[in-house]
Amino acid sequence: MNSAVQIQEQTRLASLDRYDILDTPAEEAFDRITRLTRRFFDVPMSTVTLIDGHRQWFKSRQGVSACETPKGPAFCSVVVREARPLIVPDAAADERFANNPFVTGAPHIRFYAGAPLRTPEGHSLGTLCAMDTKPRAFTADQVDTLNDLARVVMSELELRVLAMTDGLTGALSRRSFRGELSRAFALALRHRHELSCIMLDLDRFKAINDEYGHPVGDLVLSAAAAACRDELRKSDVLGRVGGEEFAVLLPHTGLASALKVAEKLRAAVARLQIPTPREPIRVTASFGIAALGISVGSAETLLEHADAALYLAKDDGRNRCVEWRPAAIAQPGLRRRVLKAGQISFNGGRSTIDCTVRSLSEEGAGLKIVTSAGVPETFKLLIETDGFSRLCRIVAKADREVDVAFV
Ligand code: GH3
Ligand code: MG
Ligand code: MG
Repeated sequence: MNSAVQIQEQTRLASLDRYDILDTPAEEAFDRITRLTRRFFDVPMSTVTLIDGHRQWFKSRQGVSACETPKGPAFCSVVVREARPLIVPDAAADERFANNPFVTGAPHIRFYAGAPLRTPEGHSLGTLCAMDTKPRAFTADQVDTLNDLARVVMSELELRVLAMTDGLTGALSRRSFRGELSRAFALALRHRHELSCIMLDLDRFKAINDEYGHPVGDLVLSAAAAACRDELRKSDVLGRVGGEEFAVLLPHTGLASALKVAEKLRAAVARLQIPTPREPIRVTASFGIAALGISVGSAETLLEHADAALYLAKDDGRNRCVEWRPAAIAQPGLRRRVLKAGQISFNGGRSTIDCTVRSLSEEGAGLKIVTSAGVPETFKLLIETDGFSRLCRIVAKADREVDVAFV
């Protein structure tokens, strides 16, 4: 990649970050558009795809089973790179795609039509696309229609930026919660007030969806949010920061009081009995609590500490509150939250894996990858745009995340 292209990719990723849409739950507004696309063009597959640093992630998908796949071979990456529609009538007869793993293997794409999701500033975030397992023709009129539908997707994304609250639970959207958090953080520093943050995640929520269905899962989510709100003060801020994850911002509150609040929330959620046509459902949640302190250099760090403590609560057996403990967490230094395209390089540079760098400090980094399987214990991390190259050692590893220390 030459440096102009790299800088363009960097600003594109920054723009994608502002929409704050990656890894958010499926939403009817987008599913409606992919259903419409599928029916209108009479194809078996349609997706709303966003191109991250290392993967393509589907905000909505029809006829496609994976929720994300590597970015390298993705047709949608080509649309984003060229910032114009891509029509491939027969991928098997097109030398650019004939050996593509998505053509030779599942989902066996033969026909592809993708239109870019273009921001008002002209960045392509991803695509709306229609795909078939048979070759097809696509007229200029059909390209126009696909472009129009892509614009409808874009307006929905714009609306989400404007929307302050989450429609299902009435909690603040992740984006506006973050805004409130950084405002409260700046105020607390200036006036030397206390400030705490609680993160909570419903326990084994997937099992509820699996057993009772998604609509009942939704009921449980809104009941849990309402139960929390009932226990909180008006000045506290409740945000939905993930599918079944919430965060609470407690201004003028130190760690000891925040722990008491978390314990009240935990008990309130555990007391709930959500009526269903069958038996009432009960649910629990795990809580991580963090407060301002010398090791908290940014609002984002406060949230990261609460999140790290939440994972300790999950590990400890769930349905409990755990405060952030510096020693318990292998967190090398204070991390800045970033969104950069990176590469994991090993085998003397012969093997590379794309990654997205999500946090960075002098001592280490947090990386997102499609799968951590096959990533060696030590490797070189490259961030081309920054001319960055450091030898890394893995300190923590999950399914799609690795935490590294620089050596
Ligand atoms: P853990 O105790 O480790 O948190 O397990 P879990 O099952 O709660 O966690 P996991 O992250 O595996 O699953 C979360 C599930 O939440 C998966 C996803 O389908 C579901 N979910 C996310 N958003 C929504 C939503 O808006 N409505 C419903 N019904 N389910 C959602
Ligand atoms: Mg959960
Ligand atoms: Mg979760």
